[in-house]
Amino acid sequence: MKSRKTAARLGILFVGAVVVPAGILAMLAIRAIDREEAYVEKQLQQTLSTELAHVASLIGAELDKIREELDRSAPSPAGADPGSLLDSWKDGVSLIRMPFLLNPDFEILWPRLTAAAGQDQVEFLKSNQEFITNKAETPVYANIALAFQEQIADLVQPKLDDQLKKTEVSSRRIETESSPQKPDLRKPALQRQKTIKDFEENPEVQQWVYQQAKERGQQSEMRNVAPSANVLPQKQALRQESIYISELKRFNDIIAGTSSGIIPRFSRDKLTFLFWKKGRDGRIVGGLLDQAAFRNRLLGLLPALYSPVRILTILDENGRPLAVPEESGERDWRRPFISQEISEILPRWEVAAYLTDPRAVVSRANLTALILWILIVMLVVSILTGGLFVLKTVRTEIDLAKKKTTFVTNVSHELKTPLTSIRMFAEMLRQGRPPDAGKRAQYLDLMVSETERLTRLINNVLDFSRRGKDEKTYAIKAVNLNRLAKELVKDQRPRLEHNGFAVVFRPAASPLIVKADEDALKQSVLNLLSNAEKYSDRAKEIDIETAGEGGRAILRVKDRGIGVPPSQSEKIFEEFYRADDSLTARTRGTGLGLSIARRIVRDHGGEIGCRPRDGGGSVFEIILPLGGPS
Ligand code: ADP
Repeated sequence: MKSRKTAARLGILFVGAVVVPAGILAMLAIRAIDREEAYVEKQLQQTLSTELAHVASLIGAELDKIREELDRSAPSPAGADPGSLLDSWKDGVSLIRMPFLLNPDFEILWPRLTAAAGQDQVEFLKSNQEFITNKAETPVYANIALAFQEQIADLVQPKLDDQLKKTEVSSRRIETESSPQKPDLRKPALQRQKTIKDFEENPEVQQWVYQQAKERGQQSEMRNVAPSANVLPQKQALRQESIYISELKRFNDIIAGTSSGIIPRFSRDKLTFLFWKKGRDGRIVGGLLDQAAFRNRLLGLLPALYSPVRILTILDENGRPLAVPEESGERDWRRPFISQEISEILPRWEVAAYLTDPRAVVSRANLTALILWILIVMLVVSILTGGLFVLKTVRTEIDLAKKKTTFVTNVSHELKTPLTSIRMFAEMLRQGRPPDAGKRAQYLDLMVSETERLTRLINNVLDFSRRGKDEKTYAIKAVNLNRLAKELVKDQRPRLEHNGFAVVFRPAASPLIVKADEDALKQSVLNLLSNAEKYSDRAKEIDIETAGEGGRAILRVKDRGIGVPPSQSEKIFEEFYRADDSLTARTRGTGLGLSIARRIVRDHGGEIGCRPRDGGGSVFEIILPLGGPS
């Protein structure tokens, strides 16, 4: 009953301490597996967006450089016929395709529509004349976040203050220590970065700002590519509007307050670029940029377009790549993995990154998932087997502890029985009873036999308590098994016969010499004899035989007792094991006798076993090598 309770408690403990945590761990890991693909994609997205931002800033710097170069190289033709100077500028600077010159009143001095005018000049004037003479407007692009910088700062600031207040209240720390790092907003570049970040991260701010822009009459357009990375934060994925808004302006308004610049202009859906510079005399010199030279210049900035992970390129105003690496194969260029707009000078252009092999993300995620699964299974299996092992060990230990307690009770009882007999016979002898000498000698024999039993018991217990601490040491010498058995029978016979047993001893014809520790061997045989006595019911017969067979010395103890069921004939040699039947239950025992006998016999290179006896009872047999262990 008690052990069942302990087992139940152990079971609960096992479930609580091992199964539940293992289960939770496994569930967490499985959830992580589910997110693996998104995680891999996110990692890629982060790496690539850093690369794109870098490329975009390189392009921005290059645009500045181009403007400065053109500014430096631009001539200042003063005379009435500026043609030759402008032509040589065009010839010397590959970026200039069609130079132009305006007087301070925005009248075209060059090119002139003479009969000799080339096709290029005609085209140029057709597309740009109205604009450069201030008669028509053109859209001018600006980063919406920067255009609304102050408003965005106002919108976002209160939130930050709220957060600050919250952290202050909850942690009660001094503000200067606990407040999140605020960028130093006195630096304009930092301030711009912060504004763009605030804008990107706040969908409500974006909505509000686009709305404001619309009310002011500023145009916003949709981007012409749709990035496919599905891990982009939702707010970013939602915003497919361009960050650049446009406002129509006349040429003179655009150039007011600056000395040179590049103006992007759409001409029948094709983006062209006009460079202009104010001369000291108020004239304006400028040029239409050469598409090919301009694009090549920007392409030259890109790092290697192809890598095993991604393909990088610049998409133009129509979403077409400026360059395509050979290895890239067929793909939808308008569906990059991620992309980024570049500059207000390059409206609708984007730097874009494509996964070289989009399936690689899935297969990488699958591989990681597989490894994780294997780990989870291994973890769960090892936790469960480990747990079961611990549980089993604990249960065995509990059983053992219980057996030991019973053992102590049994030993005390077994010690008491022979002591009582010895005392009884001693008392009788002291009182001079019985008067006849034969009987007295018998009593003395009985006392010796009981002492033998006591010694055997104590030896068994000592043997057991020594077990594991140090090896039993034997005093080995040549022993005649015949003689040993004879002496034992002689010592035990009085008691056995007194208890109603018929004892028969059949020694082998010739001496059986074995190498053995005599006392240890005696202890084994005594254990067998004692069992034969204990486990005999009504038929009280004990036969002791010795024989030499095939180089082996054999000692058999046969009884007509309760017998050992074949299923238990091995088990009874285990420590503390006691067969499960009524007589065993009635008989006190330690469960040690046979285990000690087996250990001693095996230490002598022999074997001990038991089998049923014909006609009922058991035969216990000690087999030793003749002449001792080889
Ligand atoms: P103990 O006799 O102290 O219980 P043992 O190790 O000597 O311990 O014996 C183990 C068990 O083997 C006994 O409890 C008994 O059930 C069984 N056994 C031993 N000898 C005999 C025998 N001669 N006849 C029947 N059963 C026996």
